[in-house]
Amino acid sequence: QSTLTSKTKDPYPDWKAGEPVPYAALCTTFSKIEMTTKRLEILAHCSLFLRQVLRLTPADLLPTVMLMINKLAADYAGIELGIGESLIMKAISESTGRNLKQIKADHNDTGDLGLVAAKSRSKQPTMFKPKPLTVRGVHQGLMTIALITGQNAQTRKVDGIKKLLSAADAASAGKAIDIEKDKGGPSESKYIVRTLEGKLRLGLAEKTVLVALSQAMIFHEMNQKGKTPSSADLLKAESTLKSVYSELPSYEVIIPKMLEVGIMKLPEKCKLQPGVPLKPMLAKPTKSITEVLDRFEGKDFTCEYKYDGERAQIHFVAHDAAVGLATEAPNAGKSEKGVANIFSRNSEDLSKKYPDILANLPKWIKNDTKSFVLDCETVAWDMVEKKVLAFQQLMTRKRKDVKVEDIKIKVCVFAFDILFLNGEPLVNKSLRERRALLHSAFDPVEGEFAFATYGNTSDLEEIQNLLEESVKASCEGLMVKMLDGPESSYEPSKRSQNWLKIKKDYLSGVGDSLDLVVLGAYFGKGKRTSWYGAFLLACYNPSTQEFETVCNIGTGFSEALLETLHEQLSAIQIDKPKPFYKHSTGNKDQPDVWFEPRFVWEVRTADLTLSPRYKAAADEVAGGGKGVSLRFPRFIKEREDKKPEQASTSRMIAEMYQRQEAVSKSNGPSVDDDF
Ligand code: ATP
Repeated sequence: QSTLTSKTKDPYPDWKAGEPVPYAALCTTFSKIEMTTKRLEILAHCSLFLRQVLRLTPADLLPTVMLMINKLAADYAGIELGIGESLIMKAISESTGRNLKQIKADHNDTGDLGLVAAKSRSKQPTMFKPKPLTVRGVHQGLMTIALITGQNAQTRKVDGIKKLLSAADAASAGKAIDIEKDKGGPSESKYIVRTLEGKLRLGLAEKTVLVALSQAMIFHEMNQKGKTPSSADLLKAESTLKSVYSELPSYEVIIPKMLEVGIMKLPEKCKLQPGVPLKPMLAKPTKSITEVLDRFEGKDFTCEYKYDGERAQIHFVAHDAAVGLATEAPNAGKSEKGVANIFSRNSEDLSKKYPDILANLPKWIKNDTKSFVLDCETVAWDMVEKKVLAFQQLMTRKRKDVKVEDIKIKVCVFAFDILFLNGEPLVNKSLRERRALLHSAFDPVEGEFAFATYGNTSDLEEIQNLLEESVKASCEGLMVKMLDGPESSYEPSKRSQNWLKIKKDYLSGVGDSLDLVVLGAYFGKGKRTSWYGAFLLACYNPSTQEFETVCNIGTGFSEALLETLHEQLSAIQIDKPKPFYKHSTGNKDQPDVWFEPRFVWEVRTADLTLSPRYKAAADEVAGGGKGVSLRFPRFIKEREDKKPEQASTSRMIAEMYQRQEAVSKSNGPSVDDDF
């Protein structure tokens, strides 16, 4: 904590109490963060800056935090940046007067449009001194750009970017920038452009910002009383904010409340609320039923069918409910009973994809059910045979602007958990209690709404039977969950050891399929010469924010699919690998083309091995620089619901590899992989 308590000279004497936070001050902090890889230092820089914001301009705390996590609003608001490179280059060229060719050449050299913007800006002579940017002004400007749609949207977006860039670096315009030495320093243009691209490249994880915010707030509150927080106070503040945020992941709701009541009173005031989607609880993979029995030995657990569809969180508030919706998604479904929202596993608003669910919903809600948050899986449903259809059928549904009358593939909602009912959050109750409440609050309707089938048993043969039955019912396998006590509470956003998944395919193989990002491709041979025949895939390392190569894949694709993939991927081809691709530089190992990191594919593998050609988890497995790689990988499907940063992590792959090694060495049960 030493860095946190040390006194630093105020670098922004012009920033007076009550005045907007200068954007330059935030960029100075970003630059300090960028120059270190030490997590504690990053945390200290972040926390010190937030303390200063709290001391001088608490009204700007929210936009400051949002810019730090590189988001304009909570995920459910659906406001995204990620502006394409060509638009940004156009705006840089037009706002600095440099020609587009030079800008493209610089981009090719550095691979970072932020640096290109900083360099272009520093070369521009200053004619007049623009008004300095503020944090709230930049946030607002970016928001305006993100919300532009309709006629001439692209031109208007470029105009918006130009406006920000022309006001950037008012103080340092004309000064040379040493890109080699300090990565462009605290240049405002650099960070504006990186924010527009959706990648700050600071190594600043959202979790770190949350911890920094808790520390800054407790420091601020105690300082006001002439005290300094102890380590115990800091830890208490951190765990309080983390648990509040996991139930109500919305800074827009939490920050104003925290400023009003203080951090320690937040748990009373900010609880799970319909309208703000939670990040779902996730499960750990297992390889066999005996592994499940080993892990849950002596505890009561339940085995539910694992439906193969799309995760959906359904929020509802009746017109006459005692609680209101915290926020209403733009496409919320309104019926005679109340207002409902459907969210994806990434908290995106799915209401336009599933108007049929919203229309059917009043039929299955009991009259005295006034508000709820349900955790479910939506599955394609065969109306004639009255059974679940394969996942691929669900994928043929349109994703946006679906009209109920045009729907060909019907869906049935299978509910497996309830997180909020009639004004009360249930996440801390046991699964047994939550399940009883779930069954009491709804009426199943065939082909529209059902409860997940389950069996409460710890008998190996019975579990085996359930697994077989689940597969016959077109499910993927079983989800095994703890039933009683605190271990069975709902843990939002956590991959928990209290939920285990047994997929039918696991029973051989490495235990789980992997979700990997497509970074490059090789042209095909024979019949496949006009398309790509094989692809280079990578996992994601959240601590370095790099994509690490893990295998080449050429199996599992139909001719038709290869044709589609060629069309999809050639549109995002880039000239050379991004600086955040960690790959072998050997001549033989280069793909014919490289891509933007956009598509995530689910891939199955026979087993994992170490290879000098790939870089996945190379730092974690002590393989002398060799990375973990997939043997005989096979394409399963595209994961449209995952972003590249949600791909399987290097950590997961290292754990899988280590577990596989442990199993093959001891031939006994695999090691516990919880962390
Ligand atoms: P992960 O991110 O855990 O790798 P994934 O999206 O690849 O997850 P799976 O490994 O297939 O998904 O398993 C978890 C998913 O299974 C859940 O996110 C949920 O959508 C689905 N699911 C189906 N039935 C159930 C159930 N009974 N309980 C919990 N989840 C279920």
